[in-house]
Amino acid sequence: MGLVVQKYGGSSVADAEGIKRVARRIVEAKKDGHQVVVVVSAMGDTTDELIDLAGEVSPIPSGREFDMLLTAGERISMALLAMAIKNLGHEAQSFTGSQAGVITDSVHNRARIIDVTPGRIKSSVDDGNIAIVAGFQGVSQEKKDITTLGRGGSDTTAVALAAALDAEVCEIYTDVDGVFTADPRTVTKARKIDRISYEDMLELASSGSKVLLHRCVEYARRYNIPIHVRSSFSGLPGTWVSNEPRGDQPMEQALISGVAHDTSEAKVTVVGVPDKPGEAAKIFRAISDAEINIDMVVQNVSAATTGLTDISFTLPKTDGKRAMTALERTKSTVGFDSLRYDDQIAKISLVGAGMKTNPGVTAAFFEALSGAGVNIELISTSEIRISVVTRDDDVNDAVRAVHSAFGLDSDSDEAVVYGGTGR
Ligand code: ADP
Ligand code: ASP
Ligand code: MG
Repeated sequence: MGLVVQKYGGSSVADAEGIKRVARRIVEAKKDGHQVVVVVSAMGDTTDELIDLAGEVSPIPSGREFDMLLTAGERISMALLAMAIKNLGHEAQSFTGSQAGVITDSVHNRARIIDVTPGRIKSSVDDGNIAIVAGFQGVSQEKKDITTLGRGGSDTTAVALAAALDAEVCEIYTDVDGVFTADPRTVTKARKIDRISYEDMLELASSGSKVLLHRCVEYARRYNIPIHVRSSFSGLPGTWVSNEPRGDQPMEQALISGVAHDTSEAKVTVVGVPDKPGEAAKIFRAISDAEINIDMVVQNVSAATTGLTDISFTLPKTDGKRAMTALERTKSTVGFDSLRYDDQIAKISLVGAGMKTNPGVTAAFFEALSGAGVNIELISTSEIRISVVTRDDDVNDAVRAVHSAFGLDSDSDEAVVYGGTGR
């Protein structure tokens, strides 16, 4: 029996009872003969509460101190989990990200892992312990400061440790039974997917299916780590994310893997941009210099009479203020008329590798939206994804309509959500 990495999300360890339940589950894996490394998130909504608290003392907290604060959430859960395991008569040791050898770059709040040196974790499990590692955090190579990996980053910690420790599998335990064809909180008729390729999972994750973080899937694809997403509340098998066939389970060649939605983005429109070479470059250089990642970009055809055009793009709401400040500063050099900011939007995406070879998909997607009375504001596509931006209060109707239109509704059990607040 080899080494397994198990990751438990915040909803699985929301309270003392949850921590004890998870401890029993971890001990079972150890009793089965595995070496067990556990990555744990902060309890329940602790991270959100710490973010709110920081906002009350400072409107723009320093990145370094913000990271120091947020990592406290995972230190609480890792220590409590180790205590609960010891209480069951098994040896456990907890480690911060830094102690576990998670080395990152220096970008606070969304650092990237650049190396993992898990010497202490290896010795701990070789000595018979269950090693518990605080998720979502590391230490910067250059300055030796504590960093965090961005929201949901414990998924990435787990896969990175699984790769560094050459684990058999990385199990991601959460509050639903696996990856579904849509968020089970929105679509009760969503179907659990038994197997999904890294590519389709990457598109779902980057389109808002927060059950797995997209950086974690990227990492798993690079190191070929199979991920098993499953519930910590049930004993059911979950979803395997990998490109290898498994046992008698063939790779599903689904036309459509699922529908994702995202309400965490805002739309910025730069109105009245002179339609000449170099203007878009100046706008997006300013956004990039502010270290903001953008998502969809649309430029309208310029009106011949004015020679002016509008450029819209989407970005995380949390970067909205910084983007507007950065753009205001370029007003005289770019010479645009005005800026508009809209955070009442949602993005809905349809994902599936079969799309490449099936010409009717885009039309059927738009027909489903129109049937639900949903107006489309922006459109973007990749080879295996179509995304649209709509008003945010249309999002639930839109997702359900698209899910039904592509025959994804299950006719059996309703998808179960075991815990979590969905925050
Ligand atoms: P954890 O606390 O375990 O990290 P998250 O809240 O980050 O859990 O992720 C699990 C949640 O992801 C589910 O409760 C569900 O609402 C949401 N989710 C969004 N899209 C999907 C999907 N396609 N399949 C399953 N869950 C999804
Ligand atoms: N606790 C962090 C968050 O809420 C990291 C994680 O849960 O993965 O984003
Ligand atoms: Mg998560």
